[in-house]
Amino acid sequence: MPITRRLALSASAVLAAGAMIPRRLWAVTTLTAGDLRIDSVSDGTLELPAAFVTDALPDAERADIIARFAIPADRIVTPMNITLLRRGDRVALFDVGSGPGFMPTAGKLAGALAAVGITPADVTDVIFTHAHPDHLWGLLDEFDEPVFARARLQMGAAEHEYWTDPQTPATIGEARQAFAVGAARRLAAVGDRMALFEPDAEVLPGVTAVATPGHTPGHTSFAIGTPDTGIMVTGDAIGNATFAFARPDLPGGGDQDQPRAAESRKALLARLADENWRMIGYHLPGGGIGRCVRQGDAFAFVPEAG
Ligand SMILES: [Zn+2]
Repeated sequence: MPITRRLALSASAVLAAGAMIPRRLWAVTTLTAGDLRIDSVSDGTLELPAAFVTDALPDAERADIIARFAIPADRIVTPMNITLLRRGDRVALFDVGSGPGFMPTAGKLAGALAAVGITPADVTDVIFTHAHPDHLWGLLDEFDEPVFARARLQMGAAEHEYWTDPQTPATIGEARQAFAVGAARRLAAVGDRMALFEPDAEVLPGVTAVATPGHTPGHTSFAIGTPDTGIMVTGDAIGNATFAFARPDLPGGGDQDQPRAAESRKALLARLADENWRMIGYHLPGGGIGRCVRQGDAFAFVPEAG
């Protein structure tokens, strides 16, 4: 099963809205198996205050963990890896990045797709891990028009119910209120185009929804194919390549329900390691593709592409 990481030069692409995407080099990690082709395409990077991660750590362990895992003191720059699946006439995206206006370093998906010869109009399916801004907001362009106009859209029913609940902006807490308002607006804009699925559903032929709640109420991972020939799309169930593997019990700053997220994370890590899955993590390095291996009573991420 060949796996490559390369730089692709995008042809100058003109979007429907008339915006020109300049030619630039994009890092693309590609995995092929039979008629299945998976590309990890980048939406850019997220830049977060380090406190977003470190404030959630237990007081007694914070200094040790910051030192052990070399967590930067001021800000954390994290990749955003979108999974592009091509098989037969299907062109499927798992999440769509943050779109315009969320962060200047993000919202780059259209250029990354152009570099692998795909335009938004080619996309037949969009499947969401969850509805956070860096995964969902790229659904609409700067004129609030749907970007993937022809695609079938799918999201977990529990996730959709939470973010479309009119109570959520008032109950989610101030820090995430903008997430809730932004998600509700985008989900309202696509309305009935969003099909809903339950845990264990087959969302595409050979692609199964794996419930991994906690990061958000209905966060879902996706098993594409089998461990021999496929890959597990883990979204934000495993939020970083360091302590999320080595200390999956620790609270993740981005996780809404931290105990539940830790339970989902531990179960998913064990499955990835014991079934020897290849994985693609949304915020993991090197295109996010690698394997999870057991290390003592915990785990480690082994990237597969430089
Ligand atoms: Zn994320």
